[in-house]
Amino acid sequence: MPTLFISDLHLAPERPQITRQFLHFTRSTAAGADALYILGDLFEYWVGDDDLEDPLNGTVSAALSALADSGTQVFLMRGNRDVLLGTGFASRCHATLLEDPVMVNLYGTATLLSHGDALCTDDVDYQRFRLYARDPGNQQKFLAQSLEARREQMRGMRAQSEASKQQKTETIMDVAPAAVEALLRNHSYPRLIHGHTHRPARHLHQVEGHACERWVLNDWYETGGYLRCDAAGCTAVLT
Ligand code: MN
Repeated sequence: MPTLFISDLHLAPERPQITRQFLHFTRSTAAGADALYILGDLFEYWVGDDDLEDPLNGTVSAALSALADSGTQVFLMRGNRDVLLGTGFASRCHATLLEDPVMVNLYGTATLLSHGDALCTDDVDYQRFRLYARDPGNQQKFLAQSLEARREQMRGMRAQSEASKQQKTETIMDVAPAAVEALLRNHSYPRLIHGHTHRPARHLHQVEGHACERWVLNDWYETGGYLRCDAAGCTAVLT
């Protein structure tokens, strides 16, 4: 049975069709897999693991725990939108929370998994914000507020992020080749799978004589999709 990778679903109450598509995916394709890896931005925003009574969050965690209980291992990585996902949500999903990046042995091929935002090093403003958002002190301060205050603040941050993206070029928001190659070098030239850029593709990097495959996962804005890997290799599938 294969291992599946998805990312950048950006599930939100405003887009119920994508949630339905994801729930269908957990009951159909994903149920026939050895494992499902969610490589970040499952949610459009996440205000804390104490928000599990929210209807969308409850529905998604119930679907993932049912999938895990049926025998598909579920792995979760944080993205930039849901950087505050924690062990509370993971345990509710019967899932394992992964660090970013993480090495896995995928049917004998060393494979590095990452959300991908850390590789967008040309976007200096974003990298500054990334450090701020991942700082444990800042996270604690944010989480100390009421749920309603956090939701309000998150709405403001999302609007600001959309506005600043309008000002940036496509190249700045893509991964920087030098950052990709440094990451591959530091991990002994593995295969790399990541999301975040919403530019699904298979790239080949030549790093010091080693050919490294890099898969970029598709987002779930217009259509869903996943990367399917087994001992023979990986294939991108749109749904
Ligand atoms: Mn992202």
